[in-house]
Amino acid sequence: MILLDGKIAASAIKEKLKTQITQATEKAGRPPHLAAILVGNDGASETYVASKIKNCALTGIKSSLVRLADTVPEYELIEAIKKLNADDHVDGILVQLPLPAHIKEENIISVIAPHKDVDGFHPVNAGKLMLDQKGFIPATPLGIMLLLQHYHIETSGKHAVVIGRSNIVGRPMSVLLSRNNNPGNCTVTLTHSRTKNLPDICRQADIIVAALGKPGFLTSQMVKAGAVIIDVGITRVKDETKLSGYSLKGDVDFASVSQTAGYITPVPGGVGLMTIAALLTNTYEAFLNNTHQ
Ligand code: NAP
Repeated sequence: MILLDGKIAASAIKEKLKTQITQATEKAGRPPHLAAILVGNDGASETYVASKIKNCALTGIKSSLVRLADTVPEYELIEAIKKLNADDHVDGILVQLPLPAHIKEENIISVIAPHKDVDGFHPVNAGKLMLDQKGFIPATPLGIMLLLQHYHIETSGKHAVVIGRSNIVGRPMSVLLSRNNNPGNCTVTLTHSRTKNLPDICRQADIIVAALGKPGFLTSQMVKAGAVIIDVGITRVKDETKLSGYSLKGDVDFASVSQTAGYITPVPGGVGLMTIAALLTNTYEAFLNNTHQ
């Protein structure tokens, strides 16, 4: 079994980006700028945003954080986004999800200027992905493609099973794996909670992407020998042995599946780190476009 180590792959991507960003910053006379909006103070969201900001600094990207109370009316959040849309020195905008229940996510995402939508959630970017046109690809599926590329995983002609059909992970993942590209050219089965015989379908897979948010869901009985296993799940599970009081669990039962799989990502240390590397890559792309490089 070979570990698909997100730390190694993400570090390589960030090193390369750092050099490219230094050169592009010199040309533009300013660094790339990512603006994040955080609504409320949910613990997991705070951690994700802090990690994104830290990684921006490591690669030479300027970042700024707009904090809004969890009671903020939807129109005020929209105003904050419009202000960032109009600021020529902001290249990328991300609104950390999830948002409080009184705010409709789709109303917010659709306000972000598509050319600054580095999370790739705007309908314009989602449409471009469907049509195989250049646009921003959601960071988690893009990060997984970068990981497959880094480890030279052969995907052409393979059967990939994606578990979960969310707009931010499963569905775009299925599109990317089926594209006529490298990585890509898979025959993809997109599965969800209504799928029948999921264990049988998984046993036929050369590649499985588990993105359902159910800790330890994928067991070795569902995996063909030698398969490539990508674990997207991150769930906080109570753990009294940890100072924080919780540990992070993936959707794959790592202990058993790693005995059967050919390649597998760990949690933590896998897809999460690649997601950040992909976000930085998208921000750099936005900056190049915005500064006409
Ligand atoms: P989501 O929006 O809740 O979607 C979950 C999907 O899984 C749904 O399509 C659901 O099917 C499907 N599903 C649920 N139970 C199932 C079952 N028993 N069998 C088959 N399919 C099932 O979740 P998400 O936002 O895609 O996130 C999924 C996981 O990835 C979560 O743990 C999340 O924290 C993690 N995540 C990690 C990263 C990262 O950077 N590593 C980024 C994003 C998300 P239905 O559509 O039928 O309900």
